Amino acid sequence: MKLELRGITKRFGNFTANDRINLIVETGEIHALLGENGAGKSTLMNVLYGLYDPEEGEILLDDVVQDFDGPGDAMAAGIGMVHQHFMLIPVFTVAENLMLGHEPVKGLSVLDLDAARTRVREISERFGFNIDPDALVEELSVGAQQRVEIIKALSQDAKVLVLDEPTAVLTPQETDELMEIMDELRKEGTSIVFISHKLREVRQVSDKITVIRRGKVVGTAEPTASNEELAALMVGRAVDLSVDK
Ligand code: ADP
Ligand code: MG
Ligand code: MG
Repeated sequence: MKLELRGITKRFGNFTANDRINLIVETGEIHALLGENGAGKSTLMNVLYGLYDPEEGEILLDDVVQDFDGPGDAMAAGIGMVHQHFMLIPVFTVAENLMLGHEPVKGLSVLDLDAARTRVREISERFGFNIDPDALVEELSVGAQQRVEIIKALSQDAKVLVLDEPTAVLTPQETDELMEIMDELRKEGTSIVFISHKLREVRQVSDKITVIRRGKVVGTAEPTASNEELAALMVGRAVDLSVDK
């Protein structure tokens, strides 16, 4: 599914966190949102997820203007969100978490426990996730919990998946595994917004890179751009990168 954000402006009081942001993510594209801490990346994604009502701007899915009044609407339209801090309930099983994620809202199918188990098995097998539907979430590794979040989003038929700083909590090996998962999702046509401030990962996996600084889009780059070019866009001046971030 193609995602377009057009002229999104979001203010908190006098502070403009998103200033007329434009972004296009094509179907089956991994599009990185690169920016320093506080640049406005999560705010933009919260607008996309229906959590914030923007002062200006439009969200389009496959060229159709959307009006989300909350995350339920965004989910039903095909937006999936994996936050840095997972929303799972640790003392419940994977399948129970999936079932609870399907609230009886407009357009979302309600799952019973058996259906939730089957969904977990199907999606887990399709992407080689190796997740047991009856495992307790609190007994899973952080990487596995993140895969459960991805399963949850896919079980809600997410066509656009937002991963907000997904590698911040992962080990290097789990990060490599996530990169492979993102590649598999892309092959199946899922569009991915990949938020990060780590240049190496962004260049490794993305098809396109949009750089945000102080609430504004300051450039779009190809993954072939150098670390120096990307870092200069991020901070607004030339930087000496003696260490590869
Ligand atoms: P990023 O995800 O790029 O690190 P955020 O979108 O979280 O940045 O934040 C962008 C700016 O907006 C920051 O200066 C942050 O303090 C501010 N901000 C974010 N959410 C709120 C809020 N709910 N109320 C007031 N200011 C906020
Ligand atoms: Mg953030
Ligand atoms: Mg609205």
